[in-house]
Order: sequence, then C-alpha cells, then structure tokens
Amino acid sequence: MRLGVFFIPLALGLALLAGGCGRPAGGDDGGRGYRIVATVGMVTDIVRNVAGERARVHGLMGEGVDPHLYRPTRDDVAALMRADVVFYCGLMLEGKMGEAMQSLSRQEKPVHAVAEAIDPQYLLRPPGGGHYDPHLWMDPTAWARAVDVVAAVLAEFDADNADYYRANAEHYKSQLRDLDDYARRAIATIPETGRVLITAHDAFGYFGRAYGVEVLGIQGLSTESEAGLQDIRRLLDLIVERKISAVFVESSVSAKNITALVEGARARGHALAIGGELYSDAMGPAGTYEGTYIGMIDHNVTTIVRALGGQAPAGGMQGRLGHGR
Ligand SMILES: [Zn+2]
Repeated sequence: MRLGVFFIPLALGLALLAGGCGRPAGGDDGGRGYRIVATVGMVTDIVRNVAGERARVHGLMGEGVDPHLYRPTRDDVAALMRADVVFYCGLMLEGKMGEAMQSLSRQEKPVHAVAEAIDPQYLLRPPGGGHYDPHLWMDPTAWARAVDVVAAVLAEFDADNADYYRANAEHYKSQLRDLDDYARRAIATIPETGRVLITAHDAFGYFGRAYGVEVLGIQGLSTESEAGLQDIRRLLDLIVERKISAVFVESSVSAKNITALVEGARARGHALAIGGELYSDAMGPAGTYEGTYIGMIDHNVTTIVRALGGQAPAGGMQGRLGHGR
C-alpha cells in the first residue's frame, strides 16, 4: 500500500474540513459561483465548456505533465479540499491519486471519474485482458460521452441552471463532431499501408479504433512500466519490414525510447524520421489553441497525417495551429 506525501496531509485536512461541502451557495468567493477542480487538461476543458461562467474551474495538471506519474503538490491538496465538485478521468489514469480521490469521496464531497461513468461498451481493454485503457479522449466521439457525464453531474449539483449546462454540453459536442469529421477525412488521405502510428506509450488505442490506424506503443498503457530492449528490437524489425517512415514523440513522455528507435533503424540502413511531437496525456501550452482539447486533437491529427504521407493543411482544421498565444 502506498501512503504518499499527498495522502497524509489530505487526510488531515479533510478531517479539519469534514462537513464543509454541499450545494452551491455562493460561498466565500462573493457569489460568483462554486469551485470545481479537475485533474488532466482534457477533463478540465470539458468542465470549463460545460460550467461556463457559473463556476470557477481549476485544472491541476498543465502542459507536459504525465498523469500516470503525477503526485499532487501542497497547493493541489488545498484546492481539492476547497472544491465543491471534483472531476478526474479515472480508469487508473491518475495512478498516484486514486487513494486521494477515494478519501475525498468518503468525506461526501462530489467526486466523479468521468471515464468510469460511461457505458463500458465504449471502453477498450488491452488484448489478453487487464485494466481498461483510460486514454478515451483520443476518440472525440467516445469523449463526447464524458461531456454528458459532466453535464449530468452539474445539472444535479446546481439544478437551477440545469438547462444552461445541457445547452453548453450540446454546443461543445457539436464542435467535437466537427473535429471527428475533420480527423476522418484527413486520415483517409494517408496511403493505406502507411496507417501505422508508433509512439512512446500506448495512449492511442482509441484513436486507432476510431480511425482505422494500427497503433503500436513502446511502453504499455502506463508510463510506469519500463520498455525493454526486446520491445525496441521487435518494433525495429516491424519498422524495417514494413518500410515505416516516421515515429512520434509525446509531449508528456521522455523521447529516449523513440530516439533509440530512430538510431536503431539508421544502423540497419532504414531512414526513419521523427514525425513530430504529439499531445498524448497532456494538452499544449495554456492560452494557445493547442492548449485546448480540440486544438490538441487537431494538432495530433494534422501532424500524423502530414508525416505519414497524407494531406492536411499545416494550420489544421481551422487554420489555427502553430500561432502560439
Ligand atoms: Zn498515458
């Protein structure tokens, strides 16, 4: 059992604050709404869009943060304890926060794992069984179900504004449908034999399922497992045999295994390029288009399509990629 630096102060703090949560009442922030805390950016983005101006939304994990390994800071603990509602992805994505979330929920704080609340028929299990794959956001149509989960929770928590939350959710989901249309059309331009996506860890299973792309990660579903030399050798055989031209790094995972692949391929006389950096488990910089969920997926699709021989505009779906802040 792991009792990390997080768990103990959280338990203490919770004991002090026990009984301090409930319906939105304006509280101590001047009546401008209630407080929501979310973990990864992809969940935070849904909550921001659905809650709109009714709540103050705080995301714990920013650009480049790996949720599999993330341990909350003292400030995070304080924010979680003050929150009126907490959302996280779940399915063990936030591997070091499970106990903390259980502890919060034992204190009767509304704590919701959005990916655990959707119908399991939309979830993937790795071949051979085991835990569900948590990287659901890689398929915008599946992720839209998490939008429904957030809308339902907020409509119940703040029933007076239920219609507002439902309307916001519908608007956001229509944007996700446009994103899915773009991805489908762009990926269809990649020559069929080239639809192979090789990345640092297995974050793209849902992407592969949605768009008919074969997906191979060097590490498993969590970055906690180390890749062995044998995994790298096996992938190298496949890359050379199938003449794969590009592999991809991830913004929240070390590039060392991908670099090893590129060097290994070169040693065998096969030209392998790094096709770009993808956002797997964290969105791009705050305040940029890539720092939103839609911008993140647009960036990934556009980068993958262009590197694997398909056609997509450099600016992506809406010409907004690469403009910075
Ligand atoms: Zn991951």
